[in-house]
Amino acid sequence: MTRIGFIGLGNMGGPMAANLARAGHAVQVFDLVPESLERAIKAGCIVAGDAREAVSGCDLAISMLPAGEHVRGLWLSEGGGQDLLGAFPAGALVIDCSTIDVASARAVGAAAKARGIRFLDAPVSGGVAGAAAGTLTFIVGGESSDFEAAKPVLACMGQNLFHAGALGAGQIAKMCNNMLLAIHMAGTAEALALGVKEGLEPGVLSTIMGKSSGNNWSLERYNPWPGVMENAPASRGYEGGFMTRLMVKDLGLAMALAEHAHSAVPMGALARNLFNLHAAKGQGAKDFSSILELYRDNTDPG
Ligand code: NAD
Repeated sequence: MTRIGFIGLGNMGGPMAANLARAGHAVQVFDLVPESLERAIKAGCIVAGDAREAVSGCDLAISMLPAGEHVRGLWLSEGGGQDLLGAFPAGALVIDCSTIDVASARAVGAAAKARGIRFLDAPVSGGVAGAAAGTLTFIVGGESSDFEAAKPVLACMGQNLFHAGALGAGQIAKMCNNMLLAIHMAGTAEALALGVKEGLEPGVLSTIMGKSSGNNWSLERYNPWPGVMENAPASRGYEGGFMTRLMVKDLGLAMALAEHAHSAVPMGALARNLFNLHAAKGQGAKDFSSILELYRDNTDPG
C-alpha cells in the first residue's frame, strides 16, 4: 500500500483516483469542485482540505489538471503558484498525467530535479471509459528508472504503459495522437453526415465502414452519431466525455509543436479550425464528438 496524493478529480482524475483506492492504496485527494470530492469519498478516497494537505506524508503524487498553467500553478512558485514541490522530501516521485505544453512539463521537471524530486510527464489516452475501466494508455516522458518505479501505480489505472523518451516526450507523443484523433473524428462525422443525408441509417453505415477500410477508433469505439453506440457520449447528449474545449487546447499545443519543429500540419490545422468554430458556437463544454452537430447544422436542405 502506498500513500498517494492526487490533485484534480474531473472527468478523468475522479475515476483514476477511484481505481487507485480500489487497488488498496491510501489516496489523499483534492479538487476545487465540491461534487468531485463527494464522489471521491464514495470511491474510498481520503478528501483533503487543500492540495498541500492532499500531498502531505506522500512520497508519490499525481496531478490531472486541465492545462499547463494549472500544472505550473500547482507545483511551481512562479506567478503566485502553490509551490507544492516544496512539500516533498528528496527522492519523492511526482507524476503529471494532464495533457499540457512541453515547455510547462519540462519547467516542472527541471524544478523538481533541482530539489532532488523525480518527475514524469505521463499524459493518458483512452477517454473517460478507459479511466473508469482502468484500461488507460500512459505515454510517459522522463528517466527510465523513474518510469520503472511508477509502473506498479500506473498499472492500477492503465493497461498499456509506454516510455516515449526523455522528459517532455510523453506530451509530444500525446499531441501527435490527439491531432490524429481530431482528424479522424471530424472525418468520421463528415462521412456519417453525408451518408445519412443521402438516406442511409447511421448504425448501418457505421457497421459497413467499421468493417471496411474507413474504420477508425472514433467510428468503432466512440461513434459520434447519437444512438449508434450505447456507451458513447453521443448517446447521452455529448455529456461527460472529452470536452471540445480541451480538444481545441490540444490542437493548439500540436500547432505550437509543429511551429517549433518547422513541420507542416495542414490536416491538423483544419481540424483545429473546425473544433474552434464548434466551440465558438457555445459547444465547448460538450464532448468533442459533438463536432457532428457542426456538419448536421450545415447540410443544405437542397
Ligand atoms: P476536467 O476539466 O473534467 O477536470 C479537471 C479538474 O481539475 C477539474 O475537476 C478542476 O476542478 C480541477 N482543478 C483545476 N485546477 C485545480 C487546482 N488548482 N487544484 C485542484 N483541482 C483543480 O478535465 P478532464 O477531462 O478530467 O481532463 C484532465 C486532463 O486530461 C486534461 O489535460 C485533458 O486534456 C486530459 N485528457 C482528458 C481526456 C478525456 O477524455 N476527458 C482524455 C485524455 C486526456
